[in-house]
This record gives sequence, C-alpha cells and structure tokens, in this order.
Amino acid sequence: MIPVQGVQYQTIAVLGLGLSGRATAAALAEGGASVVVWDDGADTRAEAEAQGLVLRDLTRESAWEGISALITSPGIPHLYPKPHPVIAMAYELGVPVDNDIGLFFRSFATRDWDQFDTFPRVIAVTGSNGKSTTTALIHHILKENGRPTQMGGNIGTGVLALDPAEDGEVVVIELSSYQTDLARALTPDVAVFTNLSPDHLDRHHGMGGYFAAKRRLFSEGGPDRAVIGVDEVEGRYLADQMAQGAADDRVIRVSSGTKLERFGWSVFARKGFLAEYRKGRQVASFDLRAITGLPGEHNHQNACAAYAACRAVGLAPREIESAFHSFAGLPHRSQTVAEINGVRWVNDSKATNVDSAEKALLAFKNIRWIAGGMGKEGGISSLLPHLGNVVKAYLIGHSARDFALELGQTPYEIVETMEAAVARANAEAQSGDTVLLAPAAASFDQYPNFGKRGDHFMALVEALKP
Ligand code: ADP
Repeated sequence: MIPVQGVQYQTIAVLGLGLSGRATAAALAEGGASVVVWDDGADTRAEAEAQGLVLRDLTRESAWEGISALITSPGIPHLYPKPHPVIAMAYELGVPVDNDIGLFFRSFATRDWDQFDTFPRVIAVTGSNGKSTTTALIHHILKENGRPTQMGGNIGTGVLALDPAEDGEVVVIELSSYQTDLARALTPDVAVFTNLSPDHLDRHHGMGGYFAAKRRLFSEGGPDRAVIGVDEVEGRYLADQMAQGAADDRVIRVSSGTKLERFGWSVFARKGFLAEYRKGRQVASFDLRAITGLPGEHNHQNACAAYAACRAVGLAPREIESAFHSFAGLPHRSQTVAEINGVRWVNDSKATNVDSAEKALLAFKNIRWIAGGMGKEGGISSLLPHLGNVVKAYLIGHSARDFALELGQTPYEIVETMEAAVARANAEAQSGDTVLLAPAAASFDQYPNFGKRGDHFMALVEALKP
C-alpha cells in the first residue's frame, strides 16, 4: 500500500466503496487521515461498517463539518450527465474533489528521494481502446527483461494498493477518461495516448469533453516523454501541441498504417512490420506478424505504443522484440480460445464499442460473428463497410433486432442467447472459419460485465471440444 502524503490530522471523505474506494480509504488512514466513507448501496455500507470503516451520510450538509477533501470513484459521475448529489454538494461547499490517481501522484512523488540510486518512474496509459493491452504489454516487457515493475490503475490493482516504489522501478498504470478528468495531480514520466474514438460520451458531454478529459494527462505537469498515437486528428493535434517542432524527440509519434519519417522520434507499423525512426533514420525494424499474442493491426498499434514507452525508459529494441513473443495477450481481447476441426474460436468480449469490434472484424477472415447485447448510442451502421469478412452474424441480447437492421446484405440470424449463438455457429462453421465474439455492445442486459460474458462463451466452446 502507498500511504497518502499530506493528509495527516485531516478528515477525508471517500465516496464509493468498490475495490478502489476501499484501497483509497486504507491508504488515507495509513497516511494519518481520519477517514469517513459513504456509498449509495445500503448493503455495501453495512459491509464497510462491519469492517471498521466509519460511515457518514454525505447527502446531508451537516455531515460535512471538518471534511477537507472528497475522494470519489471513477464509476460515479462528477459532471455529466449530472454530478452525483454528494459531489454536487462538495462543489457547493467548496470542498476539493479528487480521486485515487491524484492522491497517488502526490504521494508517489513526495517519498524520500534520497534513498534511490535510480528514481522510480511512472508510465501512464490512456486512450479509447488498447489501454489494457498496451499497459499489460509494457509491464510484460519490463518484467521479461528483469526490470522491477508493477502494474495497476484501471487494469486491476488500485494505484494506492500498489507497493511503495523500489529503486529503479517502473510503475505502469492504465487510466480511464473518468480518472484523468478528475485527478488533481497527473505527473507521469511517460504518458501514452493510444487512440481516440467515441465512447462514454454521456459522461463527458460529447467528444470534445471526452478528448479534454484524456488530454489532461499531458497538460497537468507535462510528462518527460509523450507517446502519442497519431492515427486520428486529435492525436496529431496533441503531438503538435506537445512538441516544439518536428525534430523535438520528447514526443514519440506512433501509427498503425502511416509511415512517419520526418519526426525526431517515431514508431510505426506497416504491412506487419514495426519500424523505429530517429531524426529521419531507421534504427530498428522487425516482423510483428509472427507474434501470436498480438493479432491484427489494432494490436500492432498497441505494440508500437508499448515499444515506444519501453524505449523511453531505456530498453533496447532487441530486448523489447524478444519479450513481444512471450506475450500471451489478455483474456477477452482477440483471445484465441480453441481450434476445433479447423475452426478458430476467438473471444473478444471486451469489444464493447463499435470501434473495437471493427478492429476485431478486420483482424480475421471468414468470420462467423457473434454480436449484440446492450447497444450504444449511434448504432452499428458504421461497421457496414467492414463486414466483408463476415460469412454470417449471430445476434444476441437486447439490441439484436436493431443490429439486424444495420447489417446490409450480411446474412444473419437472431439467436437471442450465447448458448444458441455458439451452437448455431458450431453447426454451420467450416474448416478455415473463425467464430468471433466481438459484440459491439455492452453486456449488462445479459451479464454482470464483459468478463462474465467472455467466460460464458469460453465455457461453451470448451464443451465443444472432442
Ligand atoms: P481498453 O483498456 O482501452 O478498453 P483493451 O486492451 O482492453 O483496451 O481492448 C479493448 C477492446 O478494443 C478489445 O476488444 C480489443 O480487441 C480492442 N482493441 C485493442 N487494442 C485496440 C486498438 N489499438 N484500437 C482499437 N481497438 C483495440
């Protein structure tokens, strides 16, 4: 645990008692604060009280006496569509609102620096898609090369539940837009922006607010190095803003598909090959196609971003390349779960939005596509040009009928459930086909989360094995 600095003798309120909320309460107490907590769920409150946490009903103004800050969880709206009533009250009373990420940067940076030979560093990863894959890949590469490293944030362990940094350690954290939007300190040594596509727009009041939230990672202190995906205009704008000129190598531009030769530092993938350029000269190049844990161009984009971040903390090209080969990929992201009678079964349950589903659809051929669930704003019509590899769609969940209307000439069947989808695809698939779960929709209508949806798919596929 990382004790929170600068909170001794203060009373700090924690709103939301999920994993990160609990870790935050513990880290605040360890730092000498007296902590009071609140959660909308009565059961959660009872559980917290049983564990010795002190409840205070923050929906009442009188409860705020003596509270010097409110720390909130990423799942709780702080601005749009409208602030949670407790957060709205903090604004009214002038109580500063922060989150665990802000506390982490404050506390990580104020440790006793004399004890380190090599300062620990933080790599922070944000973007619309590929955050988890890129974060896990960077962590994997560092580990494979014997570097002390930890991983946390949006990807699992809450940042304050990480261990205090060791000498020379590189901490890799994944940050969502909700987290970067609110944190009062954001001072990574290396900041990574993978890409931008519409998601969570209700929480950010549209695309502008969403991009602004992500951009804060680059503007609140200025990282030493910025790794920026420039495949969308927002990334090109951000890279331009961060650099003094094209030759400025504090910015490493990254692309999947575009050759970037004219910059101080760039890494790009083209036709399956990764290339690194510095000051107009190629300094490394290798084949990404043989790396089974990173299929498809979208993963090549992640590979380039991870490569650049690892170069920024001093790893050599060869060290990174060899670690790529032992990366198993993350569960539920273009994960090949079985090969049965020549049919490949791929679990990309994490494809909860149209953009990530599109990438998965482009990564495979002869696809039997399992899609549907709780569709998002805007529908799936933008996928139409990318359905060329789809032999047939099997539609499940709440939005199955809406999806069916947007498939053009693509053959489809509304099968409602995952059981039926797997059974039908299994009956119809031919050798050489890929059955791909890439729902382009949230899971909440049928599952608690995308992980459970993917687990269900995998269990059904497992049962097909001879
Ligand atoms: P995040 O943490 O940003 O949600 P993940 O690595 O968990 O990203 O991947 C989320 C989904 O997006 C998966 O379906 C995955 O296959 C897809 N994906 C991964 N990397 C990219 C990328 N660079 N561009 C678009 N889609 C991607």
